[in-house]
Amino acid sequence: MQIEWEKTINELLAERVACRRCGDLRTTVSVGYSRSPGLAEYAPRCNDCTNKGDCDARKLVVLCADCARELKLRVREVDAPGLMGLLMEECRRDLEECLDYLEDYWREDLDIDPGDMDRRFEEVAPEAFAEEDGWRSHLEEEYVSYHKWFRAHRAPVPDPGWRSQYVEEVITLGYPTLLGD
Ligand SMILES: [Zn+2]
Ligand SMILES: [Zn+2]
Repeated sequence: MQIEWEKTINELLAERVACRRCGDLRTTVSVGYSRSPGLAEYAPRCNDCTNKGDCDARKLVVLCADCARELKLRVREVDAPGLMGLLMEECRRDLEECLDYLEDYWREDLDIDPGDMDRRFEEVAPEAFAEEDGWRSHLEEEYVSYHKWFRAHRAPVPDPGWRSQYVEEVITLGYPTLLGD
């Protein structure tokens, strides 16, 4: 998470949060989803997007209620733990996609030779594996940052069992993870 958004979340905790679009001070933020590239700058998880102008991923967008209305975005109002919970949920979804990919989808995606069905991803396509592995590490670091936030604010991590299940699945596939042993 970039420092700038940490500022937003701290403001939210202090119940004086400036909308990043219009600058209005509010006690809560409004969040909704959008694929519009124009909203990438209001999407905390798009911080690291290299090409925000082209980002048509489904994004969690954070605005004030008035901006959301103006942009006709379907939103709900959340407080700081609510926002962190939604960000964590998104990060989990991405990690689950990584798992699906590691488990089997890579074979189809990379169109591997049927004769290579029993070989491991890292052997068959080392470069694609390294890229996938780097992306997963990046997401796991993001996950850890949310987890630390909940701990630091003595707020309960939503659905805490998710983590151990994820760890179990990654390890069963034979790969290490930053989220567990
Ligand atoms: Zn606004
Ligand atoms: Zn993006």
